[in-house]
Amino acid sequence: MEDRHRDFMRKAIELSQKNVEEGGGPFGAVVVKHGNIIGQGVNGVTRLNDPTAHAEVNAIRDACKNVKSFDLAGCQIYTSCEPCPMCLGAIYWSRIERIYYANTKKDAASIGFDDQFIYDEIGKAYESRQIPFIKVEDDNAINAFNMWKDNADKIRY
Ligand SMILES: [Zn+2]
Repeated sequence: MEDRHRDFMRKAIELSQKNVEEGGGPFGAVVVKHGNIIGQGVNGVTRLNDPTAHAEVNAIRDACKNVKSFDLAGCQIYTSCEPCPMCLGAIYWSRIERIYYANTKKDAASIGFDDQFIYDEIGKAYESRQIPFIKVEDDNAINAFNMWKDNADKIRY
């Protein structure tokens, strides 16, 4: 692996260690575009009282703010640990094109961060999931979809 990849990963790992020193979870990530770090993040779940404040999500938010775009096509993410399902989803939505990771989800599970059950839940039928999935019938629900479909000025994403 090229040296610059190691440097970017080292930065993500440094962030993860610094975050533990400051009382947070052991996760850090950076987003890279054209060989430059354009965003970084650490786990802020307990500090921010935000269960979605994972390192990768925070790095994506930081990168998008810095480049003033919701589209990170052409970017890579370096994360100190293999992404959880939420972060993986965020990475796909952001259009990041490559994921470099250091620790594995197995490593994370061994210290109490086991996200395998979420991967397993996704593959289950709704009625078999731990959290009930209940469809509520309401004829008005589709209105916003129709408005979106017919809106010529929409910003596609
Ligand atoms: Zn995550």
